[in-house]
Amino acid sequence: MRVTAACRFMLLLGLFSGLFPNEPSLGLSPALNSETAFNSATAGLAETGEDGPMVGIRFATGQWDMTFATKAGEKIRLQTKTAQWSLPSPIVVQAREGVIKVSGRSFDTEIRFHAESGALFCEGMELAGKIECWKNANEGWDLFERTSLEKYLPGVVEKEVSASSFPMAALKAQAVAARTYALFQILTRPGRRWHVHSSTRSQVYQGVGKLHPNTLKAVEETRGQVLMTGGAVFECFFHSTCGGVTCSGETGYNLIPMSALSSVDCDGCRKAPFYRWKLELAEPVLRSAVARVAGQSGIRVGTIRQVIPVDVSDSGYVPYLRIVHDGGSLEINTRRLRGSLGKLTPKVTLRSSAFEVSLEKNRFVFHGRGWGHGVGMCQHGAKGYAKSKTYEEILQHYYRGTELRTLW
Ligand SMILES: [Zn+2]
Repeated sequence: MRVTAACRFMLLLGLFSGLFPNEPSLGLSPALNSETAFNSATAGLAETGEDGPMVGIRFATGQWDMTFATKAGEKIRLQTKTAQWSLPSPIVVQAREGVIKVSGRSFDTEIRFHAESGALFCEGMELAGKIECWKNANEGWDLFERTSLEKYLPGVVEKEVSASSFPMAALKAQAVAARTYALFQILTRPGRRWHVHSSTRSQVYQGVGKLHPNTLKAVEETRGQVLMTGGAVFECFFHSTCGGVTCSGETGYNLIPMSALSSVDCDGCRKAPFYRWKLELAEPVLRSAVARVAGQSGIRVGTIRQVIPVDVSDSGYVPYLRIVHDGGSLEINTRRLRGSLGKLTPKVTLRSSAFEVSLEKNRFVFHGRGWGHGVGMCQHGAKGYAKSKTYEEILQHYYRGTELRTLW
């Protein structure tokens, strides 16, 4: 590790640990105290090289079956705390309650494995890092890859935006936003073995196979760059399309108000496919989606008569909906309803929480704008702005008052 880079990283993390306690828990992330932040930061520093700190990306949890193979029959090195084996490719890994099996061998504690040379291939993914399987509190198994932040990022940028149609400035803005988001997850999860999901629950990552040259260029040319506000990294959200104005972190995720995640106008996404959209939902479909959420509180939902937006923000985002039904009424978080509907009818879902809703002949009709939660950078907006703005200007547009810093 270069000494200068290490010192700079430590200095910024020191600032980070001092500043963070003034802020309450940032929505999806656990609360943090200064001591754990500092210990985490210094622990992370020990592993931080020119490719940044290590990140754990979880692909599966619970009970699952997966096959891992090498490209040309290279052996796979399997390790436990006390022993190791060199196994022929492929290996079949079966996670069951309390036990994990690898090609006939059974283990009840964590295992690690990697290709003795080259990458591992699993379900169409090329994974260059090391794979770990740890038993979790439910006796299931967490499967995750550990790799460096810079090696992880091209896989994220490749999946989050289209490298063949997005200009370089938009790709670079995406690389910086994704790096900042991931670093925040690492720093706010002290002691955790994995930090991000491989899906939209965090940011999408499906390994590092078949990467577009522009993706690699965008990550390399922004190496180590993150956004900071007040000397600290923050949860740098982004989304597909805002439809004209982004959503504040306050409205979207109940975060404390911060200029870095404030609502801003955007006219870069006018040509995006879901700049405007319309969704018609038959009452029974909407009722099923609401019932999936309300059922967790033991509430039974009758025929829905009215859907009323609650606490609508100045920018038109609807954080909550009041559902008036035959058995009474209840208030539901729009984000949870979107998630519930997405599972129920993946192809027919509420694309965002910026909409107006009316009842027409037993069908609820939503007229909306944008796709995604709306917080932070609008990816299609960045694509539009990239014709005339630099990536630094795009980041400044969406993340107000932030500073671009190079940490490694
Ligand atoms: Zn936009």
